[in-house]
Amino acid sequence: MSAKNEIFVLVGSPGSGKGSVSHLCIKEFGWEQLSTGDLCRKHIAEQTEIGKEIDFAIKSGKLVSDSIIVDMVNKWLIDQIESGANVLLDGYPRNLAQAEALDAFLKDEKFADIGLRIIKFAVPDEVVVDRLCNRCICSNKDCQAVYSMAKDSPCKPKEDMVCDACASPLHVRSDDTIETIKERLSIYHEYEDSMLDFYTRKGNEILKVDATKPLVEVFESFKKVVGLKD
Ligand code: AMP
Repeated sequence: MSAKNEIFVLVGSPGSGKGSVSHLCIKEFGWEQLSTGDLCRKHIAEQTEIGKEIDFAIKSGKLVSDSIIVDMVNKWLIDQIESGANVLLDGYPRNLAQAEALDAFLKDEKFADIGLRIIKFAVPDEVVVDRLCNRCICSNKDCQAVYSMAKDSPCKPKEDMVCDACASPLHVRSDDTIETIKERLSIYHEYEDSMLDFYTRKGNEILKVDATKPLVEVFESFKKVVGLKD
């Protein structure tokens, strides 16, 4: 892999493991992650001015407006790029307009040396529905470990609804209900092709990982496709 800074765009349906792989990259390589979903949830928790609009979109499984998201991401990116970190974009861009906005942002000559890698996490919808219906997340913002409450899952917490890693309570995301999961998947599929076509036309290869596998294997496969291992 080249020495220049890179932005890794993680593309995949909700529950495809983008966040979990991001956390492993942070731990192993010290990269920075931007989860637009986490940023949105932070606005809701802090009851900011745009928090209400974001809350409504998230609860109904719809996308937050592009202008709000693009603005949040660009502000965050400026700080990160100046710090020289490699960056993981988890959940952004999510449609063609956001991909074009990111492209326009990176056209600035300050960012001319930055590489863009697109990694698609491929997983069928039925696997995602099953995962998200059983998903629990650590409520500690600095931990956010993900567990599965599915019967016989190897990812169950040792103690019911308590994080193995930091002992904080686990919680279920308010948008992990079957109706909202279906809506989020339908929106994901509505926008995925046009966004990936945009990158293909620009000459960016779409690197693929099989995200149906257990997390450790997905992480190995991620490292392989981005050239971090043979
Ligand atoms: P996630 O945590 O990535 O599953 O995102 C949760 C919710 O946050 C989504 O269902 C959207 O309502 C909102 N959201 C996250 N990222 C974006 C984005 N790039 N564009 C619009 N809405 C987003």
